Amino acid sequence: MMEIVFKDKTTLIIESELLEKLYSYVQVGSAPENGGVLLGKKDVESETYFVTDLSVPSSKDIKGRFSFIRNKDVTQKLIDQRWKDSDGIENYLGEWHTHPEMQPTPSSVDKKLINIIIEDKSNVFSKVFLIILGIDKSIYVGLANADISKKIIDFKIIKE
Ligand SMILES: [Zn+2]
Repeated sequence: MMEIVFKDKTTLIIESELLEKLYSYVQVGSAPENGGVLLGKKDVESETYFVTDLSVPSSKDIKGRFSFIRNKDVTQKLIDQRWKDSDGIENYLGEWHTHPEMQPTPSSVDKKLINIIIEDKSNVFSKVFLIILGIDKSIYVGLANADISKKIIDFKIIKE
């Protein structure tokens, strides 16, 4: 299990199984970027969020060596289904994708994506997370508090 505590005390918990699932997408060789959405839930009494699933890339996504554009319809169906199945507890928690670099950092496109999500209110929870997986298995985790700002306010790079 990975527990990430941000400076503002927001906590993100990712189960080991899901980390393994994530690691299976490490970008090797000339493989394209991969990604999807983070699904999860929030603790009722604290700012603790749990990643409960990662959507896996679909054939409708557009994958490039340095870019990844996920298909919106496919993921929206998945989010809606998860919402129903969990009786309104689990929903969209953010985005994940791979980068062909060590110790990945978000690109300007990545930051823009988070801005778009907050602008069009795709997020149900006030926090939106961004996970980027590097080729050395290090993970960048960014957090934006949509109630305050569209900026990614905090992040950590974790190396297992
Ligand atoms: Zn990126």
